[in-house]
Amino acid sequence: MKNDERAACQHASLSIVNPHELLWKYKCGDCQAVLTCSCDEEIALYVLPHQAARSIDAQTRIPVQVTEPLVAGVCHECRGKVPPAFPARPHRGAASLVHRFYWREIHKETNHRFIQWAKGEGLSVTDPDGVGVVMALSHQHMDAYKGIEQTVVRDIREQHERQPKYDFSRQSDSDILAACKVATEEYSACYVTPTRGHVEVIPLGSADIECAVGVEEFVAQQLRQAGRQVMLCESRPFHALYATLMWLWVQDPRDPCNRPAGFGGRSGGDVGQDDLIWTILPEDFGSPVHATRRAGALEEHLASLPCEMEEFLWLFDYWTSHAEKLRQYLWAHRAIDVERGRRLIEILGPTRVKGILRFLADDYWGRYLGWPDLISWDEGAHGVADIEFVEVKSSSDKLSEDQRDWIVNNHESLKLPFKVAKVHRVQRIVRP
Ligand SMILES: [Zn+2]
Ligand SMILES: [Zn+2]
Repeated sequence: MKNDERAACQHASLSIVNPHELLWKYKCGDCQAVLTCSCDEEIALYVLPHQAARSIDAQTRIPVQVTEPLVAGVCHECRGKVPPAFPARPHRGAASLVHRFYWREIHKETNHRFIQWAKGEGLSVTDPDGVGVVMALSHQHMDAYKGIEQTVVRDIREQHERQPKYDFSRQSDSDILAACKVATEEYSACYVTPTRGHVEVIPLGSADIECAVGVEEFVAQQLRQAGRQVMLCESRPFHALYATLMWLWVQDPRDPCNRPAGFGGRSGGDVGQDDLIWTILPEDFGSPVHATRRAGALEEHLASLPCEMEEFLWLFDYWTSHAEKLRQYLWAHRAIDVERGRRLIEILGPTRVKGILRFLADDYWGRYLGWPDLISWDEGAHGVADIEFVEVKSSSDKLSEDQRDWIVNNHESLKLPFKVAKVHRVQRIVRP
């Protein structure tokens, strides 16, 4: 599109490039311009000068340059619309619904007021080159910043009570479990108090505090006593499985979007530039776009994986060393993750594993978390039977956002047998 055509565009079909960024960039579907709104000028100039000109596309993870900065009437508010809600995941210090839904408003308004405060104190909000330094300033004057933030949160909470901008209502855990037809198995236990970090329990009627275990292990013990096999699972064995069996598709030299990528070593400690691990990754790795863009090659790759167990395991072992770097990148580098990933093949069999690989490939970053605590099965004369994934919850525990997503996705597309084990506090024993 020529510049004069772009200048004539009314930018009538704007979409947010990445809703998780504080300073929203909007892309125009008509002229492809990438714009920021003039009402964000203070944030762009003084708070996030390095993020003002670029964004990372939330779908493709590809960097996007702002072509028209600080244009009037671009954002939802300036167009008289309510922006869609993008609640932040709950985390320490920001667990309330007001914090989660109004995170952008809180951050922006706090910075606006902090800038006024700083100017009043005679502090400069830019460095000698005119680049904004409000972020550094707020760290230097943390008490002032935090004080302003508290007032802002209080004001927004009051405003929300008068006239809510966002709808906080969401499905409860039990609504989700019912909608996804998830069965719940109840367990009774004796809880050891006071708790140290996490809940520890012993069987009812026992007084042996030395045998206290976490609720996941408690349910595993109960299942084993009932004659079933159990493996502690969670998400990492699936990451190891994915990396080991999909590296050839992910890192395919025929993919034009592959490029060298460096990341810090995963073994812990500070890493310098010299310790970076280099590998080849597509720019859009893990996004739904990655899978659609390479749908043909994905199909081909999955079809090329063996259907027979022995061959499948042989291939997993053969590829283990080839997939080392991708496993590192995905934080699935520990020997135990690889072992459990391999064990998953033996339990689930090639067909189900291929289903899981496709499920992950279609939206890796959207689906890699929230996997259940345990996998349990019967080991009969004819091999593995009656497989079940189990999420263990202590009576008062809530499902995490990732677990809720996994349960819905599993119900809709993965369809693995799944249930929730709920451990109830029926007795209590005091730690001496
Ligand atoms: Zn336009
Ligand atoms: Zn605006």
